Amino acid sequence: MTPRSRTARLDRWRKSAEFRQIARKSAKANLAKFNAAPRCGAARKRDGEPCCNPAMKNGRCGVHGGKTPSGRQWHVVQFPDCSTPAGEAKFNRKLRDQERYAAKRALRLAAMTPEQLVKHDAWHRSHSPGGSRASRSAERDRVRHNAKTKRLLHTEPRQRPTDPEMVRIERALAVARAKLAQLEMRAAKPTDGDEGIFS
Ligand SMILES: [Zn+2]
Repeated sequence: MTPRSRTARLDRWRKSAEFRQIARKSAKANLAKFNAAPRCGAARKRDGEPCCNPAMKNGRCGVHGGKTPSGRQWHVVQFPDCSTPAGEAKFNRKLRDQERYAAKRALRLAAMTPEQLVKHDAWHRSHSPGGSRASRSAERDRVRHNAKTKRLLHTEPRQRPTDPEMVRIERALAVARAKLAQLEMRAAKPTDGDEGIFS
């Protein structure tokens, strides 16, 4: 029986002994390449030890020495070299992507309320690239501190008193406050006869 679809044929090929042999050989070669590659020497965040991922030509792994530029060029879109046909295709693709993103962004901005726009601008001002290492670090500290304060303020009211007497008093106080509010509302209501007896 001959398999009908392309998928079925591919499936048969992938399950064949020949394919498995090729895959095993290729995996072995890749593992050997991985193990033989020089190691990345960047200090990792976890413990400050060298990262030890396989390094690229620049002596760093993809995480520590990738294509994202540092300094002034950080966060600035990088376009590929378009001196070859493949490069040109890549360049055009990226250009189209960027145009699409820009159009989407413009739509999103147009739909924002003035308050949202203000917030958006403030965020972008505080997150803009460049600046000195110290200023970036100071900004990070400020954000961290704000988040901590917010968290503290948020968790404060949850600390309920544990003393039963205090709980009783607080509850009575809450009831009394509610009653007072009710009375005040009733007093503020204009009683000009058309409310009926059920008000
Ligand atoms: Zn690394």
